[in-house]
Amino acid sequence: MLNDISQSSRLLIPGPVSISDTVRQFMLEDHSAGEPGMIAALREARNYLVELGNARGWGTAIPLPGSATYANEAVIRTFIPREGKLLVHTNGAYGDWLVTMCRRMDTPHVVISTPPTRPPLASEFCEALAFNSDITHVMMVHVETSSGLANPIGMVADLCDAQGKELLVDAVASFGALPIDMKELGIQALVISSNKCIEGPPGLAWVICDRAALERCAGNAKSLSLDLWDQHQTVDGTGCFRFTPPTHAIRGAYAALQTHREEGGSAARLRRYHANWRRLVGDMRKLGFETLLADEHAAPIVATFYEPDDEHYDFGRMYHGMAARGFIVVPGRLAVPGTFRIGCMGALTEQSMSSAVRALREVLADMKVRRFAPRGRGCRSESAMAPM
Ligand SMILES: *Cc1c(COP(=O)(O)O)cnc(C)c1O
Repeated sequence: MLNDISQSSRLLIPGPVSISDTVRQFMLEDHSAGEPGMIAALREARNYLVELGNARGWGTAIPLPGSATYANEAVIRTFIPREGKLLVHTNGAYGDWLVTMCRRMDTPHVVISTPPTRPPLASEFCEALAFNSDITHVMMVHVETSSGLANPIGMVADLCDAQGKELLVDAVASFGALPIDMKELGIQALVISSNKCIEGPPGLAWVICDRAALERCAGNAKSLSLDLWDQHQTVDGTGCFRFTPPTHAIRGAYAALQTHREEGGSAARLRRYHANWRRLVGDMRKLGFETLLADEHAAPIVATFYEPDDEHYDFGRMYHGMAARGFIVVPGRLAVPGTFRIGCMGALTEQSMSSAVRALREVLADMKVRRFAPRGRGCRSESAMAPM
């Protein structure tokens, strides 16, 4: 399906991701939001997202201009009533952003912080819920992009169901590849992006939510532009936005969702990302690199590696060396110091990953890095010369 991956597919980062030529082409026209074609495209995109989340019949998809952080903030503003209280889980940079938002907005909240290298335990959530009986909502990140850790939303959904709490999920890095059944999990609102696993352009976020729950949120938001209830009223009623819509990003998202369907939906995309991840991690391990996470906890969207224990290693030089060879690796935003990340989501294939690791090997050879294993591990210097 991805026969149109262009030579410019070079972003090895979890956002913005490389997009296909088909998606790029579809954005090369100017349109007004009120044209019938634009209204139809937005309607189809919303319907497809609701279908992907298994929220048909009771769910609705709300587009919101901005990156996904805007939608996370809009969800907290819109869904937490004034008398509500949020339990926020974090085990990485994106969970930390949710906590920062609550602080900035003065949202009554409690934080549960767990280590970045393993999934949180049910007992950790139970303890926080037991100590704070006034909690009404729980919010967590599904795939924590700063490490690649897949958090157990099913386990937390069961707890929320048993204890009568509403669940809000940041699925920005997982939706469109990892399966998320909103109906089965009883998720009230799910935050996603047009970018990331959907492989559209950045600049447009979405919230899929329970329509009836949203109706009860009128007046909660204390914000005009981030009021999801208000945005939904207009989008659902007229097919237009309240304010100037990002028309090119809407067309890009529409084309990306068409491509997603044609590729075979989320299952096919997950297969491709798994293949990318296996190739990346496999080739890197052959060189001597080690991953931060045990494989069973890792989501195939990004891989985190320990930095090599070699005096010649320097992330900045590696970054620029890779950029000179046409690949952009992730600059920073880490869950654990002394690590670096390479993304494998976006319009990329196994071949892209092999080319990237070959380039990395050249860059490290130029830097005279010989020891790729992390500090404290056995000497693997010979692996720098091993055939791949
Ligand atoms: C990318 C991402 C976001 C949103 O980040 P933006 O910089 O606003 O695009 C939020 N949560 C997760 C898990 C992400 O991967």
